[in-house]
Amino acid sequence: MNLWQPNMGSAGLSLLYRCLFMDNVYNQLINILQQQQLLTQISMKEHTSMRVGGEAAMLVLPYSVAEIEQVLHVLLRAHVPHTIMGNGTNLIVSDSGYSGVILKLADNFAAIRVCGNQITAQAGASLAAVSNAAWRAGLTGFEFASGIPGTMGGAVAMNAGAYDGEMKDVVLKTTAMDENGKIIHLNGEEHEFSYRKSFIQKQKLIVLETTIQLEAGEADRIKEKMQSLNARRREKQPLNLPSAGSVFKRPPDNFAGKLIEQAGLRGFRIGGAQVSDKHCGFIVNIGDATAADVIALIKWVKDKVYENSGVMLEEEVKILGG
Ligand SMILES: Cc1cc2nc3c(=O)[nH]c(=O)nc-3n(C[C@H](O)[C@H](O)[C@H](O)COP(=O)(O)OP(=O)(O)OC[C@H]3O[C@@H](n4cnc5c(N)ncnc54)[C@H](O)[C@@H]3O)c2cc1C
Repeated sequence: MNLWQPNMGSAGLSLLYRCLFMDNVYNQLINILQQQQLLTQISMKEHTSMRVGGEAAMLVLPYSVAEIEQVLHVLLRAHVPHTIMGNGTNLIVSDSGYSGVILKLADNFAAIRVCGNQITAQAGASLAAVSNAAWRAGLTGFEFASGIPGTMGGAVAMNAGAYDGEMKDVVLKTTAMDENGKIIHLNGEEHEFSYRKSFIQKQKLIVLETTIQLEAGEADRIKEKMQSLNARRREKQPLNLPSAGSVFKRPPDNFAGKLIEQAGLRGFRIGGAQVSDKHCGFIVNIGDATAADVIALIKWVKDKVYENSGVMLEEEVKILGG
């Protein structure tokens, strides 16, 4: 059959055009990357902690800043939509997927170096690995992050925090890349950290590496604190089920979980998505949830909490794709 027949319909033609266009982008990227670094039509269920969502047209796993820069160059020139992810622990991808390119900065880009009281980590280093490096070097101040399942890049972008600590308290400087591939250096207050927000998010920068400033401490006490915070997590959070952590930001002078419980939603379910029985601030995937279930439950919770308390909850999780 000749695919270019005029009776093919505009939807078919636009799909074909997109396929040819993405083929061309693939051919350019494969000149920069090795095959195992360039995944196509990849299920984002496998790359997000909520374990829902459709396919990304391409997922790129860069090893170096040079590769990130070259990939970005191709994507910009071709006007391909693209986004950045770390471990996908604060991310929900819609069931229809993402028709652009996702750059995943995780295990491939995860070097950590300790120098005096400072630790510099590439964006893909896990917070657990950075906390372990701090403990081994006898550095205190990062214990709060040891149980957060994200990467350094995701944590800086989100100003992640727990148990009275947040990235804002420890981040000294960041090397990032802007949308045009230009390297940007941020120091201290230039990160503009506020509750789960940063200059990185606002300007859509890509975190490449971040240096944190810690203090000398006793390795045994550091380990004890990490263990005790992680035991608290296991006790309070539904870590046995897929989730994206706390779905909503903490409203001023209140707690999202408490408001959700007061609205009578503990254990409330839509499809395979459920308000956790253990911690109402979490939505868990109880087996066969779709992204649509999770998104519908988020909306339901917001509506019911607003009706019950007058508080409008705001999502902490990021939703990708439409
Ligand atoms: C069980 C569980 C417990 C959690 N507990 C906590 C907690 O205590 N405190 C807390 O704050 N969060 C918590 N989270 C949420 C999540 O782990 C954090 O927000 C984490 O910082 C996200 O990192 P990530 O690498 O997974 O980012 P992703 O989920 O991959 O991405 C999140 C956002 O960051 C952006 N991003 C990722 N990498 C980069 C980069 N290199 N440069 C620029 N932007 C980037 C993405 O574009 C996206 O907007 C929890 C999640 C789970 C599943």
